[in-house]
Amino acid sequence: MNAVVLDEWGGDLSVERVDRPEPGPGEVRVDVRACAVTRTIENAVQGGLADDPALTPRIPGHEFAGVVDAVGDGVSLDVGDRILAYFYLVCGACDHCRRGATNRCTEFEGWYGVNCDGAYAEYAVLPAANALPLPDGTDFAAGAVAADGLATPVHVCERTGVDDTDTVLVVGAAGRIGVHLSQLAALRGAHVVAADVAPERLAHVDDATPATVTPVDASSDDFVSRVHEATPYGTGPTVVVDTVGDVETLRDAFASMAMGGQVVSLTTHHDRVFDAQMKEYVVKEASFHGSRYATKDEVVRAARLFADGRIDPIVRRRVGLDEVPAVHRELRTGETFGTTVVEP
Ligand SMILES: [Zn+2]
Repeated sequence: MNAVVLDEWGGDLSVERVDRPEPGPGEVRVDVRACAVTRTIENAVQGGLADDPALTPRIPGHEFAGVVDAVGDGVSLDVGDRILAYFYLVCGACDHCRRGATNRCTEFEGWYGVNCDGAYAEYAVLPAANALPLPDGTDFAAGAVAADGLATPVHVCERTGVDDTDTVLVVGAAGRIGVHLSQLAALRGAHVVAADVAPERLAHVDDATPATVTPVDASSDDFVSRVHEATPYGTGPTVVVDTVGDVETLRDAFASMAMGGQVVSLTTHHDRVFDAQMKEYVVKEASFHGSRYATKDEVVRAARLFADGRIDPIVRRRVGLDEVPAVHRELRTGETFGTTVVEP
């Protein structure tokens, strides 16, 4: 079969012919129909999640959906089942896993597509425990987007309890997390201010989000006052979600935040520090949350939001496996936005 292979962490991707994998006990083989090509995967390719040379060569890719094509021993799924994938390799036995908070697994075993081969391929082997039901009415590309692009926003909204009393400032709104978070927060009744930079990225936000979402140029000198203007009553956002990790923008966003506001960080850059005086938290009664992926339940809920048509999956581009290395080169230089999906 054809697959996109990484020979070493931080190296280049190449399209190669490899053996079709066989599922072992507790695993399924999936006919991959759609896999998102994203910055999270580029970060993994760069060694940002794990950099043990023993883990390469590696087929990356984790945000995918497809059809079960073969099953290993002890698996209750059937050939022909439609699935979408859960990103984390979790133990299933710790307290958090047993309670359903699988994103907090304390015996974490790694990431699909990093610690084992992933889905930039025609076929992928997946632990059956990571093969979640793809609802009827969710097509495969939407399933690939749900697996992380909407599941992560579902978790953010649960962490912060976003509702009709909130104004949510989404920093980096043209990314796949940003456009889907903007839609979800609006669906939950919040006012949404969607911040991004560059005219084509802002145009993408405008096209991809409902009329109730206000795009704001995050690179403008008067960013803080523009956010206030876009906020009902001019009191600033009650929830700030940072999908970018740009510390200066986050500082501006923190300064503009309403009393009792909540900041949510989603990025895992190794070299970023956000410092604010402790009294700033006290005076504003502010909270800072780290938000870690999503539970399995939230991944399926995300797919149902697409199935019901309550949120639109925003796919900007569809490519073949041959084009994946070039898309990653664009991601590396920051020249792309929106979601690209590979359909092997
Ligand atoms: Zn666990």
